Amino acid sequence: MVGGGITGVGAALALKRRGIEALLIERGEIASGASGRNAGYLMRGAADNYVAATRDLGRASARQLWKWTEDNLTMLRKEGIESLPTYRRVPSCLLAMDESERAELHESAALMREDGFALEWVESGRDAVWRSGAALGGLLNPDDAACNPCDLLKFLVSRLDHPPMTHTEVAHVELADDGVSLKTAEALIEAKRCLVCLNAYTSLLFPALSGLIQPKRGQILAARTGSVVFDYSYYANHGYEYFRQATPEAVIIGGWRRRFAEVEVGFEERTTEEVQRGLEGFGERLLGAPLEVTARWSGTMGFTPDGLPLIGPIDAAGRAASAGPLWVCGGYTGHGMSMAFKAAHEAVEAMLTGAAPPFPLSRFLNE
Ligand SMILES: Cc1cc2nc3c(=O)[nH]c(=O)nc-3n(C[C@H](O)[C@H](O)[C@H](O)COP(=O)(O)OP(=O)(O)OC[C@H]3O[C@@H](n4cnc5c(N)ncnc54)[C@H](O)[C@@H]3O)c2cc1C
Repeated sequence: MVGGGITGVGAALALKRRGIEALLIERGEIASGASGRNAGYLMRGAADNYVAATRDLGRASARQLWKWTEDNLTMLRKEGIESLPTYRRVPSCLLAMDESERAELHESAALMREDGFALEWVESGRDAVWRSGAALGGLLNPDDAACNPCDLLKFLVSRLDHPPMTHTEVAHVELADDGVSLKTAEALIEAKRCLVCLNAYTSLLFPALSGLIQPKRGQILAARTGSVVFDYSYYANHGYEYFRQATPEAVIIGGWRRRFAEVEVGFEERTTEEVQRGLEGFGERLLGAPLEVTARWSGTMGFTPDGLPLIGPIDAAGRAASAGPLWVCGGYTGHGMSMAFKAAHEAVEAMLTGAAPPFPLSRFLNE
């Protein structure tokens, strides 16, 4: 595997379970990409609500995706993440802050119930969000969870038999007669197969995928609150803003990229004053007090045209192939902690057995 985030580590665990020796190569530290920079929501669903997903993808695909994210968390729990000190079983709440989103979330709740998903609808609460007067209603995913993502990745890596090869950048990949060869600054590594787990960074190594997995920046801040102010992990403005209690004394607030969509793209991991000021103002309106900001950071997400992951064989340039030893798995459109562990397992299964992968890259063959 190339890429030491949740996809690469998930794939390494899937291979370990099958008794297959695997090498995980990472250019920095494990979780130095999005997997260590995210907000830690282990959440059912995708970027927008169920009605929007049904409209964009069709009902069957929306249902498949929602079920996929439920399975992802079940698999992580089976792996043992509930033992982590920062893991918390906490409902996520898709929050309506205007009438049109309220109507859409209401409709989502009805469709989700029809499709067999457990949920609750709330119109009041005791925490700062409801006291602020900004909340008109919320769809609760009762079985969701949240976790510090760095702890989560550290834990998953501790379950591997062999330590990953870190601080090793793969500069070039070639298809060989009987496998794949990976060139780094110091070595040529030969493997029978290779799973590319680079998500947002995929096109740096495989330019042909630049239109299918696009890098977009997400920014977050952490603030000290001194006590618990949020009862749920909130997700507002169609997922463009999100905020949750990270520890009993601190919250994280992320998003605000919609207003700066043209700027918040590319691979540069830096914070900007405009977005951070927006996040602060948003947080202060919710909490009714100035924020004591303790940290600010950003990360790079990989967006696909339809918001669904991409799994499948590629050639050395990154073009979709019908089969072969080189595969890609990524493109979670900002939701990889909730999708990628399962995606990695499914990708390994398809790569080894030749079975058709779910969310195949080949759906974009003509683009
Ligand atoms: C600000 C922010 C908030 C988010 N919040 C959430 C959330 O709350 N819930 C959720 O589900 N998702 C969230 N996400 C999305 C989630 O973090 C990602 O979808 C997920 O981490 C992707 O995992 P990955 O392993 O596929 O990619 P990454 O974690 O990005 O891993 C790719 C790795 O590849 C390495 N790499 C790159 N090039 C090379 C190379 N040439 N050779 C070797 N290694 C290389 C990188 O260093 C990196 O470690 C968020 C993302 C961001 C940025």
